[in-house]
Amino acid sequence: MNQLPRPQVLLSADRIKERLTTLAGQINQHYAGREILLVSILDGALIFTADLLRLLNLPTQLDCMRISSYGNSTSAESAPRITGSLKSDLSGRDVLLVDDILDTGKTMQRATEEISTLGPKSLRTCVFLDKPDRRANGFEADWSGFTIADEFVVGYGLDYAGRYRELPYLGVLPKSSPQPSL
Ligand code: 5GP
Ligand code: MG
Repeated sequence: MNQLPRPQVLLSADRIKERLTTLAGQINQHYAGREILLVSILDGALIFTADLLRLLNLPTQLDCMRISSYGNSTSAESAPRITGSLKSDLSGRDVLLVDDILDTGKTMQRATEEISTLGPKSLRTCVFLDKPDRRANGFEADWSGFTIADEFVVGYGLDYAGRYRELPYLGVLPKSSPQPSL
């Protein structure tokens, strides 16, 4: 098996847990007395979604979508594509859209545009991480777990070439290892 470089810890599992408890408290308060439809963007948001979901004390239904940022490498076609769509009827629903990272903002822009066409009563967004330095469109999430610098992070559901998703913490790859071009 290949030896993978070990990421440096940026956010420990304990720190993530603590922050998610606060975040979930705010979301619980905002939606008190209502039922939400949580829409998670796979694969990266899987772990965040699973942890957040179990801290919400609201009746919650779950649906998932897949969005690919890398479908076509020519820059004119760099808009994210929806490659897996929702199975629920969104009309009249309070939808909470959840993603792992808000980076350029293109993924969330595309996802919110799509959801808006499906007639929800309300739409709010929650991201685990916000990387504001690379934002291309001014998109802001309603709730975000942590704001981080423009570094490539892995773990807690986030991968590098399919690896590292299982780490319970968020890490940064050592500078000596190849950095992905986003
Ligand atoms: P966007 O640029 O559209 O806001 O984000 C696109 C997607 O790129 C994110 O949903 C996330 O899956 C991925 N991404 C952005 N920054 C990172 C990062 O630092 N690490 C990993 N693993 N994925 C990232
Ligand atoms: Mg993603």
